[in-house]
Amino acid sequence: MKKLFGTFGVRRVANTELTPEFASKLAASYGSLIKGKVAVGGDTRTTTEMIKHAVISGLLSSGCDVVDLGFLPTPTVQYAVRNYYDGGVIITASHNPPKYNGIKLVDSDGIGTPDEMEIEIEKLFFNDNPDRISWNEIGDVETNSGLLEEYIDNVIARVDAEAIKNVNLKVIVDCGSGAACFTTPFLLRKLGCEVITMNCQPDGFFPGRNPEPTEPNLKELIEVVKATGADLGVAHDGDADRTICIDEEGNFVFGDKSFALVEKYMLKENNGGLIVTTVATSSAIYDIANEYNGEVIATKVGDLIVARELKDKNGLFGGEENGGLIFPDFVYGRDAALSTAKIIEIIAKTGKPLSRLIEELPVYYSEKMKIECPDELKQEVMQKIAEETREFEVDTTDGVKIIKDEGWVIIRPSGTEPIFRCFAEAKTLKEAKKMAEWGISLVKKYLNQ
Ligand code: MG
Repeated sequence: MKKLFGTFGVRRVANTELTPEFASKLAASYGSLIKGKVAVGGDTRTTTEMIKHAVISGLLSSGCDVVDLGFLPTPTVQYAVRNYYDGGVIITASHNPPKYNGIKLVDSDGIGTPDEMEIEIEKLFFNDNPDRISWNEIGDVETNSGLLEEYIDNVIARVDAEAIKNVNLKVIVDCGSGAACFTTPFLLRKLGCEVITMNCQPDGFFPGRNPEPTEPNLKELIEVVKATGADLGVAHDGDADRTICIDEEGNFVFGDKSFALVEKYMLKENNGGLIVTTVATSSAIYDIANEYNGEVIATKVGDLIVARELKDKNGLFGGEENGGLIFPDFVYGRDAALSTAKIIEIIAKTGKPLSRLIEELPVYYSEKMKIECPDELKQEVMQKIAEETREFEVDTTDGVKIIKDEGWVIIRPSGTEPIFRCFAEAKTLKEAKKMAEWGISLVKKYLNQ
């Protein structure tokens, strides 16, 4: 049983739980196993700089050289590590509120460290024995100042830049004051778009909006898209690994829709291929795969698990229902910049507005609900629900996914919060709601026993 790590890294309240001492020791434990050149970078949080210095100390102390990448998106660190370094440490709490921060560790492919390695790191951490090298062996700290530009140019090289430049799209970009401030506006201007920025000044207090790109948090972006007659609105989470779009009519485009849209064009372009996603993703992904010669593998929920499967199975493309898309030939993780460029390329090459492109996709309705449940009760509640639902067609890849004629619902305990999530999908919104409510009622039933 892992004691430090969640589904991808460590996430805590900064400077009360996630202190410099904690960060330094964790980095030294990781560095003891890497013993090479490690890149360190992070998002725009107020505590990122503080934690970064602690991480750098820990890495140097355990015998690593360090490349300080500064403030930048999570996928940019993953890109850099995959191409140049032996490991990486990313300081970010993604979409969580400003008081949080976190540490993500990646291997030399830029992919989140495997479970076995995390267990080794925990052993070193809790037994107080990371390597501490001699004073005369301490390594160097260097920087990589051209990295952001190189990353942006590599995104551009993966799309039809000329086609995008020819259509001159007007795009409203809302980076939520997160790490995308350093990439998306520059990327889109290089692609010839007319860019209007919102919340594109880096600020760890996230003064403009909450860093999670949900519909309620993007009300202003929606208004600006409508008021300016823009072709598209683009929003990111705090560490710029997720992209959420607003269509030209001001409609919030759910992540499973943009995933399905990019899947369709990736399969068309490549004459088919392997798609990896989680069991919580829309049936539309399967419908499109059937139509365009694709094959789908569904994993447990978690971007890291999807990324690993894409690497192991040499997949074409993958993602999740939350706007996190993975292009494994570029970065083994969700990448907001290439997701944005790809969606804009599709609009440019088809000549269709985003609302039309979304209309052409298979239609399903989804409903997400959650209910509080103390961590210590999760396993028992899950077990009882699994017993009760045995009569149905179920998939137990992650939690319980109950498949009925009218749709499906997944009931699963969160890996990071004391809650159960119920996520349902059906052909009508009413049915989806009904199924999600049924899921919640099952959790309630066993929670109160
Ligand atoms: Mg994120």
